[in-house]
Amino acid sequence: MTEEIAAVNAPVSAIERLQLELPELDWITDPNRIERLSQDFSWFSPVLKRRLEGKVADTVVRPRTEDEIRRLVAACAKLKLPLTIRGSGTGNYGQTTPLAGGVVLDMTGYNAMLWVRPGVARAQAGIRLAEIEKATRPGGQELRCLPSTYRSATLGGLFGGGFGGVGSINHGPLGAPGNVIGLKAMTIEPEPQVVELRGAEALRMHHLWGTNGLVLELEIALAPAQPWLETLATFTGFDAALAFADALARAPGLAKREVAFFASPVPDHLTQLAEHLPRGCHAVLSLVAEAGEEAMNELVAAHGGSVTYRRTAEDVAKSNRTLMEYTWNHTTLHALRVDKGLTYLQTSFTPGEHVRQITELAKRYEGEVLMHAEFLRTMDGLLTCSALQLVRFSTEERLAQIIREHRDYGVRINDPHTFIVEDGKAGGELPEEVVALKRRFDPLALLNPGKLRHWPVRSAP
Ligand SMILES: Cc1cc2nc3c(=O)[nH]c(=O)nc-3n(C[C@H](O)[C@H](O)[C@H](O)COP(=O)(O)OP(=O)(O)OC[C@H]3O[C@@H](n4cnc5c(N)ncnc54)[C@H](O)[C@@H]3O)c2cc1C
Repeated sequence: MTEEIAAVNAPVSAIERLQLELPELDWITDPNRIERLSQDFSWFSPVLKRRLEGKVADTVVRPRTEDEIRRLVAACAKLKLPLTIRGSGTGNYGQTTPLAGGVVLDMTGYNAMLWVRPGVARAQAGIRLAEIEKATRPGGQELRCLPSTYRSATLGGLFGGGFGGVGSINHGPLGAPGNVIGLKAMTIEPEPQVVELRGAEALRMHHLWGTNGLVLELEIALAPAQPWLETLATFTGFDAALAFADALARAPGLAKREVAFFASPVPDHLTQLAEHLPRGCHAVLSLVAEAGEEAMNELVAAHGGSVTYRRTAEDVAKSNRTLMEYTWNHTTLHALRVDKGLTYLQTSFTPGEHVRQITELAKRYEGEVLMHAEFLRTMDGLLTCSALQLVRFSTEERLAQIIREHRDYGVRINDPHTFIVEDGKAGGELPEEVVALKRRFDPLALLNPGKLRHWPVRSAP
């Protein structure tokens, strides 16, 4: 048999059949791009970095219309091909990394803003969050809570893999009732169905890492936009800085969008802001309504601090440089740029106990776990902090011990070093209604296989 005949007779893989069936779709076939589009920011964790090494999709596709998505889903279901949904891939837990090969479905081509009304907007899932604000700001509205990655992150990615962020000090996590109003999702079947889910039912797809439904559109609540003043206040003492941050966060007359506390030596890692952060200082980063500047300055002075950085909303708009990109896990990103030996934790403190807990834990792990805390409201509306502490990494065993000790101390750790949904923020077995949604929307168990503990992992045939 000649080589030519052998090639003609070679069995066609399921991926090749898929691509032959849907030639008009935007396929990404370059192996380097496929590798890049199979990854997210899981490299923040040395544990995930090791465990996800070499995990890569067989192909990536970027549909542009609902019809293209439907044809792709139908064909994948018929061929039993694993499907991993991706927004912009800024997730931290390998959420967009396929464990069993198959297709990465890049949603960024499906990105239209559908409408904006008073207090609410609707858009396709692949839209970038920054694009939503471009559409809502002229009408005086903004997103209620947005991750520090808002420039690149998508709406579907925030819903599928995010938690909240800037603005959560007012509105709590994205999952707090009222923040997400409804969604449209597609089932993964040979004959895909499109279903609208509202309220609590819609939230059953939230933070499930694209394992229990493909979200096509989201309807989200908006907040009135304010001109936000961006400041850094610095302090020589830990207690004074934390007390100021807590007082600012609580002050009911001061409208704010963000308050973050960086204990020394965290500010030393923010090298792009070095001229505003005296070495060894403790710092508080905030976005407060411009009208509240005098009241805030009085609070800074009362705690013995100094304002070392001040930008008005107009300065921020002109420079396109915002302190929001130094908050939440952006703090970790900036720190990792100057010290590759760091990793991080995610900790929720007890409302009302948060100042004491932060102070005690910062002392206990001095030099090893460096305190960075973000103020927010809980699902019940109580003010507290979530920390994204920087950890000087030594071994995986030591990291696990630190996590255990924090839990024994009485604070909640949302483990960022796992790619199993139940072991992360979910903190255990999923509620029955979430599992029921999985059965309804993904009966063939093709969505992001390996990320839910009790569901089978079948590799691409
Ligand atoms: C430097 C840095 C800072 C960060 N700061 C924050 C922060 O402040 N707050 C925060 O919450 N997170 C933060 N994150 C995590 C992440 O950036 C956000 O959660 C972001 O919203 C994810 O959006 P994405 O488009 O990149 O999603 P991706 O990473 O592409 O996807 C996230 C998950 O959602 C699923 N998904 C995506 N689209 C859909 C869809 N249409 N239907 C169903 N499932 C879907 C994916 O399968 C995946 O499991 C940060 C990450 C980094 C690296």
